[in-house]
Amino acid sequence: MAATVTPADFFIEAWTHLPAHRGMGKSLSYRHHQPLQPGQLVHLPVGRQTLLGVVSRCATTLPPNSTLAPHELKPLAEVLSHCPPLGADWMRLIEFTAHYYRRSPGEVAIMALPTLLKEATDANLVKRLQRLHDKKPPATSPTPDPAKRLNPEQQQAMNALVAHAGPSLLHGATGSGKTEVYLQRMQRILEEDEQSQILVMVPEINLTPQLEQLMKGRFAHLGPQAVISLHSGLPTAQRLNNWLMAHLGNARIVLGTRLSIFASLPRLRLIVVDEEHDPSFKQGDGPRHSARDLAVFRGHQLGIPVILASATPSLESWNNSAPAPNAKPNYLRVSMPSRQGDQPMPELVVVDMNRFGRSVWLSPTLEQAMRARLDASEQVLLLLNRRGFAPVLYCPDCQWTSDCAHCSAHQVLHKADHRLHCHHCGAQTRVPTTCPSCGGQQILGLGQGTEQIEEELIERLSSWQKPNGQPVNILRMDADTVRLKGQLTAQLNAFHDGQADVLVGTQMVAKGHDFQRVGLVAALNPDGALFSSDFRAPERLFALLMQAAGRAGRDPKRSATLPAQMWIQTHYPQHHLFTHLRHFDYAAFAEEELSARQSVGLPPFVHQALLRTEARQAGATLSALNHMHSACTDLAARLDMPLTVHQPVPMSMSKLAGVHRAQMLVEANSRKTLQGFLQVWDAELAPAMRQQKGLLRWAWDVDPVSI
Ligand code: ADP
Ligand code: ZN
Ligand code: ZN
Repeated sequence: MAATVTPADFFIEAWTHLPAHRGMGKSLSYRHHQPLQPGQLVHLPVGRQTLLGVVSRCATTLPPNSTLAPHELKPLAEVLSHCPPLGADWMRLIEFTAHYYRRSPGEVAIMALPTLLKEATDANLVKRLQRLHDKKPPATSPTPDPAKRLNPEQQQAMNALVAHAGPSLLHGATGSGKTEVYLQRMQRILEEDEQSQILVMVPEINLTPQLEQLMKGRFAHLGPQAVISLHSGLPTAQRLNNWLMAHLGNARIVLGTRLSIFASLPRLRLIVVDEEHDPSFKQGDGPRHSARDLAVFRGHQLGIPVILASATPSLESWNNSAPAPNAKPNYLRVSMPSRQGDQPMPELVVVDMNRFGRSVWLSPTLEQAMRARLDASEQVLLLLNRRGFAPVLYCPDCQWTSDCAHCSAHQVLHKADHRLHCHHCGAQTRVPTTCPSCGGQQILGLGQGTEQIEEELIERLSSWQKPNGQPVNILRMDADTVRLKGQLTAQLNAFHDGQADVLVGTQMVAKGHDFQRVGLVAALNPDGALFSSDFRAPERLFALLMQAAGRAGRDPKRSATLPAQMWIQTHYPQHHLFTHLRHFDYAAFAEEELSARQSVGLPPFVHQALLRTEARQAGATLSALNHMHSACTDLAARLDMPLTVHQPVPMSMSKLAGVHRAQMLVEANSRKTLQGFLQVWDAELAPAMRQQKGLLRWAWDVDPVSI
């Protein structure tokens, strides 16, 4: 039966996430008997499915470019009318993200919304909203934890932040009290405007459970639901509830990971990005966006301040806040060089590992220093960025190595379950007893992972006693030990409580934990990052080591007999990274890295976009890219755009889980040129890209953070 279109019909366009093979349509058209506001959530019939959508336009006429006649349009499946429409600012954020990162608005919008909304009916929502509404606040509002009295340096930083309306880079040494400064900045805003909302983004909430507690305590007077968190670890129902609380304006503070940049916050007045240098703010799949950069966009769009905080800012942000000869920097730079209570930064001890055999992973001097700490009832933190027992198995007879069958990577020996694991695709195999290639009897593990360090430390320290006569306890913390829910918090608490004396772990142990009894931190083998093919590896290593060093000597009341120390074991003691680390001089390191990058033309002095392709056949990725390489070169020449289109290359991990990966880099001196090119590319070359044979996926990665 043909549907008749009555004059009262409205033509609705909506964004939704269509499966990729349908192309990147901007929106779909429907009809509805009532007008709807842009931003309204709806369910759309698409083929035989019903998909969540966001109304992007409502009019009494079809859009001029519509290929459908009015009677061909389907009615909407449902309007989630009890959920107020998303705001115009949210819609613009989605459109900007889609445009900048070359995705469809629907893909970005649906990614940005809680997954449970896809199934929610309007009737469900009514009940859910009622339940949220019924949660009565307690009769008396609890007294908040008092703010700390700012020291003069903090006060100065605070004054500068208050006076500045745009983005600021709050650069403070670890332990300088950055958190206290932004908490007080938040407090002011929350007091000035009783409905104001604030977004605080952190790299990983699990690694900073203290921050959520701190905020709940500090803002307790605003009610039990004033501080909510938004991250992918929440159960779906709670994530939807929290999202709704923010959207309805009931939540005053949203503490979240990168996905919270898309939270709907109708009264947003401030955005804080803590540890702004952390690579996890860049999404690595789907719409690859940088939540930090979007924070700056969102702040600019709303005319509200944005605070980027870090002890080791990204070189992008550092450069953006650099005093320029004739221009105002993009960001205000606010510095707090001193640690609380004038605690000095720990002393740096660099051990030249060339003095020892290749198999030595713990120098005798470091072992001695560790024992001295244990004798003084202090704790020790050992950092090694490799989990498992040994990074690779090797046969000395025929040079066989334990390569993953599906990835261009080694499988790692794990002793706990006695298996070989690929850390990239998860494939596991039994540990062979003889060489699978030549039958040789002597296969051995090369190098050390955290499991091995733990095992050997237990053995070495088994006879050592602490002053109280107790044996030394070793705790290991890495992705393998915190797999189950609650394990991470339990292990962190155990170390806080002094149940362990030595903590061995991957970079997760270096994050912002406020361990009070740690006197010595050591990086056992940081050399891998010094000569990585990724030009950002030294920047990341420096940040990690600074952060790790910040875990030492945090207790102002600790005895001064042993100065806090940071140890580095390296085969390259002269490397400039360690020279700057000696003074914990981030600024000097940043300036040197920046000038090196400028001289060879690397970001932030050029802007990059990568066209990434994936295919089952190695040849397909490169042949598609080779075709694109000449097409892009021609296009750039025809448009007279100053661009460099680099030769396509396999990615540094060229095969992952059986899929071959290659990429082509396009660079321009200005962001505008690059964006202009990508836009023309979309219109002129994307169709040819879609016709390339044998590709599983392809996508642009704009401002990539790993090359
Ligand atoms: P950062 O985030 O810069 O590494 P934190 O904000 O964690 O530093 O502060 C380090 C420590 O100093 C924390 O234990 C914090 O409670 C304390 N602190 C911060 N500001 C003050 C202050 N003004 N007075 C006393 N203690 C402070
Ligand atoms: Zn062999
Ligand atoms: Zn693998």
